[in-house]
Amino acid sequence: MRPNLLDPLFVPITSYSGIGPKIAALIARALGRESADDTRAVDLLLLAPHRLIDRRNQPGIVNSPENAIVTLTLHVDRHQPSPRGKSNVPYRVFAHDDTDEIALTFFHTRQNWLERALPVGETVLVSGKVDWFNGRASMVHPDRMALAKDIDSFPMIDPVYPLTAGLSPKLLQRAIDNAIASIPDMPEWLDEPFVKESELPDFAASIRSLHAPRDENDMNANAPARRRLAYDELLAGQLSLALMRRRIRKLKGRPVNGDGSVRNQLLEALPFQLTGSQSQAVSDILTDMQSSDRMLRLLQGDVGSGKTAVALMAMGACAEAGGQAVLMAPTEILAQQHFTTIEPIAGKAGIGVDLLTGRTKAKERKAILERIESGETKMIVGTHALFQDSVNYHDLLLAVVDEQHRFGVHQRLRLTAKGAAPHMLVTTATPIPRTLVLSAFGDMDVSRLAEKPAGRLPIKTVTLETERIGDIVNRLKDAIAKGRKAYWICPLVEDSDLSELMSAEQRHAHLATEFGALVGVVHGRMNSADKDKAMQDFKSGKTRILVATTVIEVGVDVPDASIIVIEHAERFGLAQLHQLRGRVGRGSDSSSCILLYKALLSETAKARLSIMRESQDGFRIAEEDLKLRGEGELLGTRQSGVPGFRLVDLEAHRDLIEVARNDARYVLEKDGELASERGTALRMLLYLWRRDEAIKLLRAG
Ligand code: ADP
Ligand code: MG
Repeated sequence: MRPNLLDPLFVPITSYSGIGPKIAALIARALGRESADDTRAVDLLLLAPHRLIDRRNQPGIVNSPENAIVTLTLHVDRHQPSPRGKSNVPYRVFAHDDTDEIALTFFHTRQNWLERALPVGETVLVSGKVDWFNGRASMVHPDRMALAKDIDSFPMIDPVYPLTAGLSPKLLQRAIDNAIASIPDMPEWLDEPFVKESELPDFAASIRSLHAPRDENDMNANAPARRRLAYDELLAGQLSLALMRRRIRKLKGRPVNGDGSVRNQLLEALPFQLTGSQSQAVSDILTDMQSSDRMLRLLQGDVGSGKTAVALMAMGACAEAGGQAVLMAPTEILAQQHFTTIEPIAGKAGIGVDLLTGRTKAKERKAILERIESGETKMIVGTHALFQDSVNYHDLLLAVVDEQHRFGVHQRLRLTAKGAAPHMLVTTATPIPRTLVLSAFGDMDVSRLAEKPAGRLPIKTVTLETERIGDIVNRLKDAIAKGRKAYWICPLVEDSDLSELMSAEQRHAHLATEFGALVGVVHGRMNSADKDKAMQDFKSGKTRILVATTVIEVGVDVPDASIIVIEHAERFGLAQLHQLRGRVGRGSDSSSCILLYKALLSETAKARLSIMRESQDGFRIAEEDLKLRGEGELLGTRQSGVPGFRLVDLEAHRDLIEVARNDARYVLEKDGELASERGTALRMLLYLWRRDEAIKLLRAG
């Protein structure tokens, strides 16, 4: 049970004034929460600002640079409302300081409100961007206005939060302030001497300064408040990993001893022969599963190396042994795709496959749940829906978690907390360095698919300026006429700063004028049924160009697509570009990748694009990526928006990882059920970081 003390931090954000379901959904998205219902005050506390707006520059009107943020102290002279019935003419308020005059300009505004905010004859503070036109200064819709006497409540530094397009900053700020005000008096969960020695502020103080940065120094990952919270986050993570490991050790695995009958049929049904590294990986896995120790193995293989076939063979072995195996994908698109690939092949081996995702219809779902419970279904493919409380496995022997780096510790714990003790195989296309595997995922054995399936032709990669889009369209016309298929990738539009970027919708409309119904589109804001249809149409060839955002980044497999155009390639990370390019080069046609960029590239962007031109080796690219961007990026935590870590920066806080791991181990050695005074406080830490699953692993949870 969660201590009552924490209740104020676990109210749904919709209980805050001004936050309805729509806004809550936007906030949930920014926070990477699964749903608005499950987004609580505490999540707001842990949303870290990624930059700040500095309003401290007070140069006076005449010295205000064009388009830079300034704060002015003004004397209000007169109001000039919009003429009656002409609301499109702006409302102007004229004011001056010792240096010059300025017109504050408002569109579609209310007169009463402005008369109260900027009373004639008063001195006011106004902050925003100054425009100059013919030597006259104006400011359109100041960001902030206050009477000069209220200067104390006029923040000169605003935090800016990531991925919050569509959210009013004021509203978000108010919600965060509310959450901060509701932080209860909590005991310290960190080791007191450690806190003293490292000069870390306490939790509440850290949260307050996180949201009220005083300058750029406070934005540094190693500013005391951020460091404290990063340590908290690491410790919560390490504690839950340690609890999970303890649980894994307690639950013995069931040895899987198949006779090879299903596997032989699967091998026959597969349209290709396994490569040497695929067979090796299968044999590693079988050896692991034959033991009564649970398998915990990571299958690393570059995009397109054929990890699915390896997983399928492992699942086949479980079916032979009379048990069940699940394959969990990070998205519905991927789950659907795995199902479509696996079902016919398993079918030929006489094994039925079920698909279970968040949107499986109630009636079908009931039937599937029954088949899972009775043990009739041996192979189940799905999303996290596979591990909800309503799913009871008859005899789960193996859980394959696909594209592991997209899942947090969270999901893995939920999986383990299911009671069953399945062998675990996790797959990833990211060549994660060993130390990182340990810190992020705990101890795991590793199999690598070093060899690519035979017959793969290299992907020809070129970089072109965006201006050449017309040429590309013409070349696409030829290619499509020859029966080829192409992806066209647009960057996500997440931040209003990026609004100049072509969104998928717009690009789709543009290409449709050239290619008509042959162009489809898929992006994250579409509902799942539409997404699936778009993918299906592209697979079947009904559409021949698929405009997409990065929803197709991980794992999507359409072997006869042989062209990929990536727009604004300079905005993508290397790992992401490599993943995207891996969507082509899967069939027998030679493939090409066209990276479109906007001129005047930064040095890093230049370096990234040239590495892409030079290399197709995932390991080399990951290494270069590490050099250019740091490890957080490599794990996909920063760019995916999926919460891996909120405040931890694996590079800046590298020293803390080891400390947190030892701390967690030490705590659990002394106080295995977190029952001591510090243990009780640590339970709060686990709740705050939403590691509830870990708490369920404690006896008195
Ligand atoms: P990933 O490792 O990225 O998950 P997939 O499992 O999706 O890769 O496989 C990529 C493509 O390669 C699929 O079209 C699959 O059918 C094909 N493939 C897998 N193994 C082989 C093989 N041994 N020979 C030829 N093609 C293969
Ligand atoms: Mg895959």
